[in-house]
Amino acid sequence: MAKKKKSSSSKSKMVYYFGKTRTDGDGSMKQLLGGKGANLAEMTSIGLPVPPGFTITTECCGQYYKEKQKLPTGLMDEVNAAVAILEKENGKKFGDTNNPLLVSVRSGAALSMPGMMNTILNLGLNDESVVGLANDTGNERFAYDAYRRLINMYGDVVMEVHHEYFEEAFSKIKKKYGVDLDTEVPTKGLIELVAEYKKVYKKHTKQEFPQDPIKQLELAIEAVFKSWNSDKAISYRRIEGITGLVGTGVNVQSMVFGNMGEDSGTGVAFTRNPSTGENKFYGEFLVNAQGEDVVAGIRTPQPVAEMPKWKCDADKTIGKKVHAELMAIKTKLEKHYKDVQDIEFTIERGKLYMLQTRTGKRTGAAAVRIACEMVKEKLITEKTAVLRIPPNDLTQLLLPSFDPAAKKKEKPLTIGLPASPGAAFGMLAFTADEAVERAHNGEKVLLVRKETSPEDVDGMHSAAGILTSTGGMTSHAAVVARGWGKCCVAGAGAIEIDEKGRKIKVGGKTYTHKDVLSIDGSTGEVYGGELATVEPKLSGDFETVMKLSDKYRKLGIRTNADSPADSKRARDFGAEGIGLCRTEHMFFEPERIIHMREMILAEEKEAREAALKKLLPYQRKDFEGIFKAMKGLPVTIRLLDPPLHEFLPHDAKSQAEVSKATGITTAKIKNRVAQLHEANPMLGHRGCRLSVTYPEILVMQVTAITEATISCLKKKIDAQPEIMIPLVGTVNELSMLRKIAEETIEDVKAKKKFDGKLPILIGTMIEIPRAALTADEVATEADFFSFGTNDLTQMTFGYSRDDINSFLPDYLGEEILEKDPFQSLDTTGVGQLVSIAVEKGRATNGKLKLGICGEHGGDPASIAFCHKVGLNYVSCSPFRVPIARLAAAQAALKDA
Ligand code: PEP
Ligand code: MG
Repeated sequence: MAKKKKSSSSKSKMVYYFGKTRTDGDGSMKQLLGGKGANLAEMTSIGLPVPPGFTITTECCGQYYKEKQKLPTGLMDEVNAAVAILEKENGKKFGDTNNPLLVSVRSGAALSMPGMMNTILNLGLNDESVVGLANDTGNERFAYDAYRRLINMYGDVVMEVHHEYFEEAFSKIKKKYGVDLDTEVPTKGLIELVAEYKKVYKKHTKQEFPQDPIKQLELAIEAVFKSWNSDKAISYRRIEGITGLVGTGVNVQSMVFGNMGEDSGTGVAFTRNPSTGENKFYGEFLVNAQGEDVVAGIRTPQPVAEMPKWKCDADKTIGKKVHAELMAIKTKLEKHYKDVQDIEFTIERGKLYMLQTRTGKRTGAAAVRIACEMVKEKLITEKTAVLRIPPNDLTQLLLPSFDPAAKKKEKPLTIGLPASPGAAFGMLAFTADEAVERAHNGEKVLLVRKETSPEDVDGMHSAAGILTSTGGMTSHAAVVARGWGKCCVAGAGAIEIDEKGRKIKVGGKTYTHKDVLSIDGSTGEVYGGELATVEPKLSGDFETVMKLSDKYRKLGIRTNADSPADSKRARDFGAEGIGLCRTEHMFFEPERIIHMREMILAEEKEAREAALKKLLPYQRKDFEGIFKAMKGLPVTIRLLDPPLHEFLPHDAKSQAEVSKATGITTAKIKNRVAQLHEANPMLGHRGCRLSVTYPEILVMQVTAITEATISCLKKKIDAQPEIMIPLVGTVNELSMLRKIAEETIEDVKAKKKFDGKLPILIGTMIEIPRAALTADEVATEADFFSFGTNDLTQMTFGYSRDDINSFLPDYLGEEILEKDPFQSLDTTGVGQLVSIAVEKGRATNGKLKLGICGEHGGDPASIAFCHKVGLNYVSCSPFRVPIARLAAAQAALKDA
């Protein structure tokens, strides 16, 4: 953010009003007003029934932190002026003994952080205005209930008085009146409770509960600013990768009450189903309740579809009317925002108010369906549809689901709400901390809780899935899980959870922390044990999105695969070739590893060649299988890359076994292992260096490739191999090895009496900074470059790719690094080397084909970079192919 001088920043407007008489902001001002504030202004402008109020800017929160946690000068003057307008519009006065103005104070950052920051309701009540509220509503009980809630919330949120102290006082009153439920406490009891709460407040804050509403407001605003840097908010931002925001906005809004009786209520809804994407208004409401009751999952709400049945003494058609109004609002909102909205509403004595709208978080499946249907409905264009789906969310559509055959055999223990789709199984964990710890120790766990709260996010994130026994489709667990694409079943009421005993009871059975359950987030079913899963397919709307992506992308998409099965899967997902076939994986099967070891242990070239000869048929078969699976698409085969010690056993027992199998003495084996030991094997005898020392390895592999190609061509199977030489640092390595490879190809052709042209390209990986810097030279010997950005990142940063986790958390925590450079390409440093190599390579070889095959080839941000520097293709693991297709299309559309 640009630095501003103190004087100029204090002059910039800090408070934006929204109401009947004026509306200062609009929906485009999310950065400044926060998402909630910007949308309250926007909804007001398009004529929706929004209680008036004002928003304090996010910049103000930033300023608060800059000024060592002091409210910026002039802020309260602007707040006072806005309150004056609010009073005028409402015809109510703050703190009035008759019909007082009450407000809610809520946080709202530019990006949604559900439940992470503070909310205070009923602000403006004091010993006098509570009487005014009682008179105005004719409901004394309601007024004192509102007042005790304020003192509790205010004490808890603003003054950090532990909620427990208020609970204790409440329990005493309930005991005194012999009742169990809050709602059963008589008015007299609530009046006493207010007095008790004030005592609790005074005892723990050493101050009286503030009676001046403006003072209450000032402290509440500060508390919201403070909550921006609470542990849970920081943790949420870290998990969600939210960076670069200055702070939260504060929304001060006239209160409306959903708990004024049977003609009032509150609810939350999505304009379409956020789980499946179905175009059906989808929400829940509670009669006679406040908003927090729905989100907290304390009472299980009713679906909005049932609303028309809602009747009350005063109005028999209240439900029908409100439902119709909501339906009209759905259409208006979607037409206006051209996207699914997630709304909060309150009905006060039959009148509907909108309290919030925001873009609805949705699962990957919903994102795909909604995008396709909105194109059909002509709400959005094809391009918008492609741009709108977060590529990584497609992962959820590529996850396995439970095998229907396996499900048929089992009876579910219970069925809860299908809160977030997917199939998950794991051992039961009962607290967030337990889930974090056990997941950290490599266990797969399901987090089982009555309900979740924002404090649980770390545990929810660590768990394979989430199962709750209360709460609806819009409870905290459901909303957060859907946002992450994590499988969740909510409100499975039949489950009795014994958190302390670490067990649950369901369907007459008991399951402990050592037992496994399976949950199906698409149906809500809960099963005992681990159910079998099946692989996903591209079809329906998913296929449509893929076709649209292909229409707009410029980058080719290949895959990293080294077996016919993986190759086929990738092809089915739309891969246009193999960008990296790692041949070393092919040597680990039992009957092969033995020959590989013979080869490595051989002392003479002849013995090495004899062992390689035994490996050759296996390799040829591997390649034939892959060429067949790829049916004419290019297949880039990388020659042996890892240091040889990786193929030898290091413990005495395994060495004895190898000795028995090969007839080589254990002493010799030990000796060879010691010989191959290197201090820095990743910088040692690996990659093309192996072929320089032992050209016979290259000869065997190139022979296998050539023979497989000829064999396929003879069977009319189009084979398009590309031989890739790894870890080249100087052109001389490549020219030496290219020459041997070309000679080998000619030898095979002669032996096989094949005189046609063989379409075999020879190229190299760019994994060493020197190769990138001298790409003009290297390109004279290469038909293609493939950027091996795993090694290139390792060698550019000097971070071991296998050991980065020992210090990465510190680097991310201290913001030395913004992200893990092995996951998302460091475009500034490593990317610069890529750009240089692209430019220099093409300068000396205009026909040079360019691709990337490091892990970054499947990362949307890195794919955008690859598009920008003009690579021909990206190559990624089979399951990331659809993600790469979409990300490549987005990169092209953003660039257009
Ligand atoms: C790379 O280094 O980016 C690469 C693809 O090769 P490997 O991961 O096998 O070292
Ligand atoms: Mg590499």
